[in-house]
Amino acid sequence: MQLQDAGLLKTGAYIDGKWQAADSGETTAVINPATGQSIAEVARCGHAETQQAIAAADRALADWRARPAAERSRYVRKLFDLMMAAQEDLAQLMTAEQGKPITESRGEIAYGASFLEWFAEEAKRVYGDTIPAPSADKRIVCTRQPVGVVACITPWNFPNAMLTRKIGPALASGCTVVCKPAGATPLSALAIAELADRAGIPPGVVNVLAGKTGEIGEALTSSPRVRKLTFTGSTEVGKELIRACAGTVKRTSMELGGNAPFIVFDDADLDAAVVGAIASKYRNAGQTCVCANRMLIQRGVYEEFATRLEAAVAQLRVGDGVDEQTTIGPLIDRQAADSVLEMIDDATRQGARLVIGGRRSDIGDAFIEPAILTGVTDQMRVFREEIFGPVAPLIAFDTEAEAIALANDTEFGLASYFYSRDIGRIWRVAEGLDYGIVGINEGLISNAAAPFGGMKESGNGREGSRYGMDEYLEIKYMCLGGLDR
Ligand code: NAP
Repeated sequence: MQLQDAGLLKTGAYIDGKWQAADSGETTAVINPATGQSIAEVARCGHAETQQAIAAADRALADWRARPAAERSRYVRKLFDLMMAAQEDLAQLMTAEQGKPITESRGEIAYGASFLEWFAEEAKRVYGDTIPAPSADKRIVCTRQPVGVVACITPWNFPNAMLTRKIGPALASGCTVVCKPAGATPLSALAIAELADRAGIPPGVVNVLAGKTGEIGEALTSSPRVRKLTFTGSTEVGKELIRACAGTVKRTSMELGGNAPFIVFDDADLDAAVVGAIASKYRNAGQTCVCANRMLIQRGVYEEFATRLEAAVAQLRVGDGVDEQTTIGPLIDRQAADSVLEMIDDATRQGARLVIGGRRSDIGDAFIEPAILTGVTDQMRVFREEIFGPVAPLIAFDTEAEAIALANDTEFGLASYFYSRDIGRIWRVAEGLDYGIVGINEGLISNAAAPFGGMKESGNGREGSRYGMDEYLEIKYMCLGGLDR
């Protein structure tokens, strides 16, 4: 990893505007999933350092929330500028620790930074309300105030954007943050802390530390000073954290797992559907929460779609993400690849057919050849569970009603996709899908202007868009009485 700015490779914990080691002196290795080699040793923090970070965020809160919105906006904007100026280095860091192809890492930095730009602008538009009062001597005024200290816990699949999507609105609204990135990918988050420091954001407003998952989680969820937890990760851990937050009745935003249906109707533009399927299914080697997980194909176009998809998958290139030609990098580690191979086994044992790929690649233990399974049924694990790997299961259906029923037959409700050119069908299906996000004739749905989030066990709350700001604000109702005396 050759960085133009070596100062972006940080390995300490960033607490109260200073870099420090773990109190115990312990470190954890960060492993490059493509090579299995250690690329850095990062401070392994625990309960004590988390308490220090919470105290720092709490001290910084009064000053930060009192600053004019335009001033906070300038700081967040500055962070955006610094992030874009460092795009190439941040992308190299990300590919080294996460594995995704370098072109995707560059894209994620721009996508992650776009949340900072967006919320820097939104900072200036946190309006209140006046409401007609029930009697002549009263006035009702509503203001919106920052929630307070916010804990941010993020996953490894988007190590930059999942954090900026939280830090952006939190800082813009006047909150301070304590962030815990995933153990596998702390370097991208620590680099953001370094840029926050360079942007002149006051000490204590942004704190980032990695280390002992359970200890950090317990300290954040049990602290009465932390007023909100915003979490992106698995549904299983999300449920655990909601329970842990109940003790102090924290607000929570939960961006959890998905099981996205990708429906192709027989009136669809099949070429467009294949392009959308490749983008949605195989990006980040299938490790996104909005990845198409189940491809529901109407029987009349099933064979044709399978053939065209196979031709497109054959063009994908598996390799180390640093190679500019790579389109499919490694999974996050060997265990992740094992788990995907087990799901493929489960499907083929029950009668599904592997038409391409689906084997561990010779390149390394964490690499899987992109795959397509046909003849998949709703009894197979690939239908029920989040695959998190480059495997497209194809399921045939006959009617529109059947497609909607199959699509909704899951506890998840994050992203969904369908392809059709019939305007009546487009409205019926879009309204019938129990999902927070519906891509219609489109496989790429994420951007800072749109509300991202799920229904059912995919979580609560929305990130990005004008709604994203609400998650960090409390409504305060003021009743002015005695006005006619
Ligand atoms: P994960 O295992 O749930 O971990 C997510 C984060 O939670 C990591 O930082 C992890 O730390 C931390 N964590 C785990 N147990 C914890 C505990 N007891 N207390 C406090 N923190 C704890 O998920 P992942 O494997 O990293 O990410 C993949 C999942 O994220 C998938 O299900 C995916 O769908 C979901 N996701 C959802 C969205 C969305 O917007 N809805 C976006 C991206 C990903 P360690 O790494 O240290 O274990």
